[in-house]
Amino acid sequence: MKWLKWALIIFMAVLVVLGLYLAGSNKTEEYTKTEFLMDTTCSVTFYGKESEAAAEAVFAEVERIDKLMNMYNENSDVSRINCSAENEKIKVSEDTYKVLKTAVEVGSKSDGAFDVTVAPITSLWNFSGEEPRVLDRKEVDEALLFVGFSNLVLSDGNTVKKLNGNTKIDLGGAAKGYAGDCAEKIAKGYNLTGGIIDLGGNIICFGKNPKSKDGKWTVGIQKPFAPTGTYEKTVTISEGCVVTSGTYQRYFEKDGKRYHHIIDPKTGMPKNAEYQSVTVVCESSLLGDCISTAAFVLGKERGEELVKQYEGAVYYE
Ligand code: AMP
Ligand code: MG
Repeated sequence: MKWLKWALIIFMAVLVVLGLYLAGSNKTEEYTKTEFLMDTTCSVTFYGKESEAAAEAVFAEVERIDKLMNMYNENSDVSRINCSAENEKIKVSEDTYKVLKTAVEVGSKSDGAFDVTVAPITSLWNFSGEEPRVLDRKEVDEALLFVGFSNLVLSDGNTVKKLNGNTKIDLGGAAKGYAGDCAEKIAKGYNLTGGIIDLGGNIICFGKNPKSKDGKWTVGIQKPFAPTGTYEKTVTISEGCVVTSGTYQRYFEKDGKRYHHIIDPKTGMPKNAEYQSVTVVCESSLLGDCISTAAFVLGKERGEELVKQYEGAVYYE
């Protein structure tokens, strides 16, 4: 019966090796990557077997969107629109067209509080540049003549034309949100159990959070002007987007006064408000991006009404 003893030993050994192998393959692989893209800090944390490959693919996707929508890249769709003449038809990518469609829709629902044609004003303020400056009333009024999304005509075949040659677009309030939706789509094509994507305050959560008992994600709302990672409020969601527009994200100070980057398109000036940030929780990151900026400009009461139309939740800080 010696052979039986040996057969049993070998059988047990195979079971142990197989057990160890399966335990290893089920282990959640966590991968985090951070890069500076779209003029902001972007980071992802993915869980699952293909977490690293997914992160690489997601960053490539964010770069692709940036190339299409960056107003400082002269070959981007945005630059081609900005340089086009009155009534010239410009064919753009499906991506840019989608963003413009949503931006114009939110523009109209927010009574112009969100307006992607705010570029003649934002480029004068130059919040992203090295020497932002305080504008005088006269130059703001002159630039305001070209602001108004009704100057954009969007037609089938992804074409865009401007009714005024001096009108220019700035997708700074929407492109990161769209990149978030695209990033999520790419990530979901990989073998992941879940993940979180943060493109400069546009946060997207999907799948299961392996670090919480119920698989949900808890996202902190940054306390304005406090060190990054200081939270007074958190939101817990299963899946979805948490998007913040805040004065603290981009501003400069001159003579003791703070000038921030969220412009009221009616006045051409930074929106003067008693709150410093607006956070929207909703299904789409593109929508969240547009409506959080809009809700900032609209103020609490009208902002809440707008966000309700999109079945989202909004928090003013
Ligand atoms: P966000 O951080 O999403 O609120 O977007 C702010 C950025 O959007 C600014 O840096 C500008 O590039 C642009 N922007 C500023 N004000 C507006 C506005 N009222 N409507 C649309 N885009 C805006
Ligand atoms: Mg926005």
